[in-house]
Amino acid sequence: MPLYEYRCDGCGERFEVLQRMGEGPQGLTCPRCGAAEPRRQLSTFAAAGSSADGASRSACAAPGGSGFT
Ligand SMILES: [Zn+2]
Repeated sequence: MPLYEYRCDGCGERFEVLQRMGEGPQGLTCPRCGAAEPRRQLSTFAAAGSSADGASRSACAAPGGSGFT
């Protein structure tokens, strides 16, 4: 499960929450002041990637055997 970082609009508290992919701030409250639905910050793990250059190059699909006689 990824770790999401949230920031409270009310008091400015920043905290991290383990959530499932795609889960929103619904139901979350600030641990400091109790305000509902904090703002999600950029996920730390995504920003910290140094060499995560996802070069998704498709495997060189060689065109089928051209078996001419
Ligand atoms: Zn707060």
